[in-house]
Amino acid sequence: MIFFDNASTTKICQAALDQMIEYSSNQYYNPSALYHESLIVSEQINNVRKEVVKYLGGTSADKFIFTSGATEANNTIIRSNARNKNAKMLFSLGEHPSVYNVAIDLQNQGYNVDFIKLNSDGCVDIGDLQRKLDSTTCFVSFMHVSNETGAINDVKKLTQLIKSKCKALVHVDGVQAFMKLPVNVSNLGVDYYTISAHKFHGPKGVGGFYMKHGVNVKPYLIGGGQENNLRSGTENVPAIMGMLAAIKDGYDHINTNYLKISDLSVTLNNDVNKFGYALNITNHSPYINALSFEGVKAETLLHMLEQTGYLVGNGSACSSKHRDNRVLGSIGLTNTEIEGSIRVSFSKHNTIDEVQNFVKDLQLCVEEYKQKTNGRND
Ligand code: PMP
Repeated sequence: MIFFDNASTTKICQAALDQMIEYSSNQYYNPSALYHESLIVSEQINNVRKEVVKYLGGTSADKFIFTSGATEANNTIIRSNARNKNAKMLFSLGEHPSVYNVAIDLQNQGYNVDFIKLNSDGCVDIGDLQRKLDSTTCFVSFMHVSNETGAINDVKKLTQLIKSKCKALVHVDGVQAFMKLPVNVSNLGVDYYTISAHKFHGPKGVGGFYMKHGVNVKPYLIGGGQENNLRSGTENVPAIMGMLAAIKDGYDHINTNYLKISDLSVTLNNDVNKFGYALNITNHSPYINALSFEGVKAETLLHMLEQTGYLVGNGSACSSKHRDNRVLGSIGLTNTEIEGSIRVSFSKHNTIDEVQNFVKDLQLCVEEYKQKTNGRND
């Protein structure tokens, strides 16, 4: 089976697995206990924290809070910035459900929430952002790379614009960017930056958020006071150690992997344009490729591809069971284009041969589908 759904998750690397075994079977102590073994583990977690901040490009005064993943990180950041119902909170329309649905929930509770449009290239519409920013804006959230289209937002430019207009804190969901593109939070100027380990060959159920010096959150989980009182619950030590191992394993190869994946992406998009439609995203991460086939139902196509030996995604895999057309719709796709859209997302393990064979099989599947339905799609 060829795995082309790496935006949903990735295969864990051996280095991360080794650490998980070590910290599950040998150094399995609870970091909060008072004996020596635990103190060592507690120190090691704090070292991971410092290292993760460094890999993200933060300073020694900045913080990183470990969570169960990006969903929890996004919830924590957004909810703790909902303080005053009159202050405006802005969210891009392209956000993952772990941001968008929290924004809707806050709106339903009476908070002053508004959404920023996307351009047809999938990026935040700067003009719309500019119009909606005012001195009451306290929080703005947008993603670095879209999990549906791969569109890359110019985080630095957007953040500079926001900071020039108001005192809002800026949150960026970096889940599909970190370890795929060079990321330097200090240079980007953001206040919060979310990551998730299973998207970069680390373990599932761990991630967290970078927080700039001087910025804070209200704890979302209250209990034993772990993570400096900001996130209670026994630390997932094996996963935290595994996350750092995955970062170390991949970090030096970010640029070479990017070039390799760019080749795969160009081949895929050029070839698909002969019989389908590769979304016209000018500045998109080569890791994420949105394709659409008019007159085809993506769900059926996914199953046909699965039977041929390929696993691909449709839209956001986290929410594929509740798929709506919010993101693709807001960049101007018609309902039939959305219905026929699939997402092909790569990892460093994919090869050009796989992509070339895939395109041929994909074309056969699309033709077979059209023959079977004979133009009907009901
Ligand atoms: N944000 C983005 C952009 C994502 O792609 C995902 C995962 N699909 C998440 C947040 C949620 O991450 P997690 O699985 O760690 O909760």
